[in-house]
Amino acid sequence: MNINELLDSKEGEKRFMLGNEAAVRGVLESGVSLAATYPGTPSSEIGDILFKIAKEANVYFEFSANEKVAIEVATSAASTGLRTFSFMKHVGVNVAADSFMTSAYIGVEGSMLVLVADDPSTFSSQNEQDTRHFARQANIPLFEPSNPQEIKDFIHYAYDISDKFNIPVILRTTTRVSHMRGIVETGSYAKNTKTYGEYKDNGLHVPVPEAARVMHKNLVEKISDIREVSNKSPLNKIIDNGAEIGIIASGGAYNYVADVVRQNNLKVNILKLGFTHPYPEELVRKFLEDNREVLVVEEVDPLNEIETLAIAGKYNINVKIHGKRDNTLPEIFEYTPDIIFEALQKLSSFDDKRKEPNQLSEIALPSRPATLCSGCPHRASYYAAREAINSLNLDLESIHPSDIGCYTLGIAPPYKMANYLMSMGASVGTSCGFSKSTKDQPIISFIGDSTFFHAGIPPLINAVHNKTKFTLVILDNRITAMTGGQTNPGIPIDGMGDEAPEISIEALVKSIGINFVKKVNPLNVKEMINIYKEALAYDGVSVIIAKYPCNLINKQAIRERKYKIKVDQDKCVHCNICVNNLACPSINEIDGKITIDQVCNKCGVCTEVCPTNAIHKEE
Ligand code: SF4
Ligand code: SF4
Repeated sequence: MNINELLDSKEGEKRFMLGNEAAVRGVLESGVSLAATYPGTPSSEIGDILFKIAKEANVYFEFSANEKVAIEVATSAASTGLRTFSFMKHVGVNVAADSFMTSAYIGVEGSMLVLVADDPSTFSSQNEQDTRHFARQANIPLFEPSNPQEIKDFIHYAYDISDKFNIPVILRTTTRVSHMRGIVETGSYAKNTKTYGEYKDNGLHVPVPEAARVMHKNLVEKISDIREVSNKSPLNKIIDNGAEIGIIASGGAYNYVADVVRQNNLKVNILKLGFTHPYPEELVRKFLEDNREVLVVEEVDPLNEIETLAIAGKYNINVKIHGKRDNTLPEIFEYTPDIIFEALQKLSSFDDKRKEPNQLSEIALPSRPATLCSGCPHRASYYAAREAINSLNLDLESIHPSDIGCYTLGIAPPYKMANYLMSMGASVGTSCGFSKSTKDQPIISFIGDSTFFHAGIPPLINAVHNKTKFTLVILDNRITAMTGGQTNPGIPIDGMGDEAPEISIEALVKSIGINFVKKVNPLNVKEMINIYKEALAYDGVSVIIAKYPCNLINKQAIRERKYKIKVDQDKCVHCNICVNNLACPSINEIDGKITIDQVCNKCGVCTEVCPTNAIHKEE
């Protein structure tokens, strides 16, 4: 939708919105004053939109250095009485967890919502973890919308709970819900007027052990009260069709259930859950008593199922409960309507009225492995690293800890420059471990600029202090690229679009006592190869800052390259170094000839790589 409509739509109008757009409208209608995030798919569009409209909406917005900082910014601002918003992807909660766990103890004076987008089937993540565990562990209420309208409406409801109980709350979406489109009826929206709150020291904000014990007791009592609300909440509703088979479904998984039931005209009862922590015990108890068999449908982990089993056991209800625990449904990955239908068939012999089950899955799709863009500066960095390692004839296998970002794609041949990966910033920490646990194996690790600010600095301090030896390449492409091009502390623009101090990676790295720091334009491949060789010979932590802007933000410069990249067929000796070693997707071998296609971004790296100068720039 047109971004202006997010602000301009009047009460009662209907708009076709992405789930993440509905989230922005929801927080704006709710009167949010401050929002903070670290970008992460599938929640990234929320930040991209707020970056564009924050000023007009009079909302303070920032791309924080990481999710923990974002939570700290939102929680402290909420303690001044403001309504605040933080959002992230599921793995971001791991980073935020340390502060987030305590936020429920301290509570908020205003209100605070944390939207977390989970990623069943790991479309863009390193794992499939389920945020609902955090809600239970932290004693924080959690809501699970199924579509864009619900995202917007649940946000209002969730803020009300946060307000009433002075507690942060979580809205858990999944990839399909964040990225699905649907009609959303907008509510009333007025530009935010509450820019500042007031902090009052009520003596309850410092959880030293004596106080923390009291806070925990209060929190458990609060959650018990909130369970009463969840039992009666309109977000949890029974659709009673007088059947003997019941389905309990929540979040995105409910959509598959709704499709299967409607398309096959199945006679089942449904308990649709939108407010799932605290689990609505009384409501579920009633549903179990009214059904002979119940299937619990949820993505990712069987949390509602375990709660349901516990309720059946507690009240000795004679009902069969199916789900992931008895393998009626798969334990992992995203669901599909066919998976739900087949699970229901295991319970009851419903006629299969599906016209062509699994129709889509039978279509042979071409494989589309992720690859670095044509002209991506990371390719040059990887090519040079591989050349340096090969030319040194190193006997031992080289170790390449990598990190979270586009450069993870360095795992692919021919570079093979990622063979160990854990999480944001872990390339540096794991390099410390490899440095202490291996002998003479060369270690070259990679991290991006945004990821370096996010979680790469503490392990680098650790590396220096503990006298480790490895080469860290900071791939500074001047943006947070993989999530779509958001700013970070190394960019001279902040989340409000204003000029901001640009933190120098070079000065920062030098300031912690690293003496080998080289800054290089990775498109200068030969220089880069020599720097790698020097860095590998250095006895200590060596840092190479490979600085060149990502194609996403370099469009103007690319347009200004008036030359073309051509191949002189007479000079080409068909060594295929350009195709096999550099592997830029714009270079192809067609009918025995090397050709360069239209998507070439004219970075010029292939002209340096070709040993016979067959590839050249032509005005
Ligand atoms: S100049 Fe060469 S390496 Fe760069 S994008 Fe074009 S074909 Fe690829
Ligand atoms: S690197 Fe140069 S010589 Fe070798 S195949 Fe490519 S264009 Fe031909």
